[in-house]
Amino acid sequence: MSLLKQKTYQPLTNESAVELALDLNIFAGHATLSCKEIGDGNLNLVFHIVDELEGKSIIIKQALPYAKVVGESWPLTLKRAKIEAEALKIFKQIAPDYVPEVFYTDDVLAVTIMEDLSHLLIARTGFIKGETYPLFAKHLGEYLAKTLFYTSDYGLGPSIKKEYLQQFINPELCKITEDLIFTDPFVDADTNEFEGGLRPAVEALWRDEELQFHVNVLKKSFLSETEALLHGDLHTGSVFAGQIETKVIDPEFAFYGPAGFDIGQVFANLLFQVIANEEKRDLFINHVETVWNVFKDQYTFLWNTENKETAAKTSTFLNYQLSKFFEDSIGFAGCELIRRTIGLSHVADLDGIEGEQTRIAAKQKTLEIGTLLIKQRKEIKSLAAFITKVRELI
Ligand code: ADP
Ligand code: MG
Repeated sequence: MSLLKQKTYQPLTNESAVELALDLNIFAGHATLSCKEIGDGNLNLVFHIVDELEGKSIIIKQALPYAKVVGESWPLTLKRAKIEAEALKIFKQIAPDYVPEVFYTDDVLAVTIMEDLSHLLIARTGFIKGETYPLFAKHLGEYLAKTLFYTSDYGLGPSIKKEYLQQFINPELCKITEDLIFTDPFVDADTNEFEGGLRPAVEALWRDEELQFHVNVLKKSFLSETEALLHGDLHTGSVFAGQIETKVIDPEFAFYGPAGFDIGQVFANLLFQVIANEEKRDLFINHVETVWNVFKDQYTFLWNTENKETAAKTSTFLNYQLSKFFEDSIGFAGCELIRRTIGLSHVADLDGIEGEQTRIAAKQKTLEIGTLLIKQRKEIKSLAAFITKVRELI
């Protein structure tokens, strides 16, 4: 029986993925399709289906009822596929240039069928190969300004905002972030992973009460603020890049949270290149600056032209908002830097550094920068001050 008629969940195989595509008439009935599972992610299946003759291709992403990276012992809700598909559709409307098109979704099968972006490269992979993607930072700055403004109370108005808020309650995926970013790296948890050479630095972190306090403040913001619909996992592995195109994928962690969380993840993941890629350091520092400058300018423009809260439309309140976003971004960037160095799920930017001593030294610097950003986020009042601090430590 056709998968569409079965109405029960089952994981797709290459064969059933092709069948599904044919049943949906995405390709011509007589098409000869090839299919390959290409998911390199931690959680889901990703099928690449190609009609060589017509030169047409699609992606079918399917959630598994557990985390692929750990196995069946870590069950995970299938509802995340619906969250991801709905977030993709909303973000596509808001920032059409920077989000793939969704062709079909099915909540029971937990699948999203979307535009194939194989002509681009995952940004992290490209950066490690030496690419710098000249428009990457401008595009992400614009994506952040649009998504964070248009999903906020100021862009949506209070009624629709609350409907979205309800729709994007995402407790299981948020819990992963709460544990893996805000809790585990700061205590001796089983999920942590780091080389022996880092142990003294890590134990110092675990003893640092001032740091723990600040991380709790940031975690509270993550738990309780509902400023905007966040992507929730906006690292450079969630962005496809090319010389002229940038597309943000994989918003399964989407939820209403503090806007600075998405911005901070972008900052941190660019900082991994600043730290690991000495030759291109200035270029990646420039990317960090561009992300913020473009974000600030675009957000300001939207604030002044599209604001639904007329009483809040003053420059004093705008400045208050931007300062808060900046401070939060710096703090959340610090948490991401630390998590990706010693917690679960590292980044290849750091793990790929050749030579143990060099790698350990880079990771120690990452921990130092992360700690400083978390503790001093209130004192770092400008982009220039942020960059100066980073330069002092690398
Ligand atoms: P996960 O949620 O499991 O991390 P991702 O959405 O990050 O899954 O996808 C995993 C991988 O599948 C990506 O790194 C990329 O290689 C491939 N992929 C995902 N979406 C697309 C797409 N639209 N076009 C081409 N490849 C894709
Ligand atoms: Mg993912």
